[in-house]
Amino acid sequence: MAVPKKKTSPSRRGMRRSHHALRPEAYVECANCGELTRPHHVCPHCGHYDGREVAPAGDALKGVIRT
Ligand SMILES: [Zn+2]
Repeated sequence: MAVPKKKTSPSRRGMRRSHHALRPEAYVECANCGELTRPHHVCPHCGHYDGREVAPAGDALKGVIRT
């Protein structure tokens, strides 16, 4: 098994973790119903995407589309 020769210093560890921060999720207003939805996703509230209804609106979407 490959074993590190030296202990990772706190500075090195911090440099590695400098990329680990989480970004806030992006949200846009649905053009149809005005609800906040994720960009480039079917609106989970009304089932619209790109100006037309592509999925049944309301509760039927729950479990089908990840929000
Ligand atoms: Zn909508």
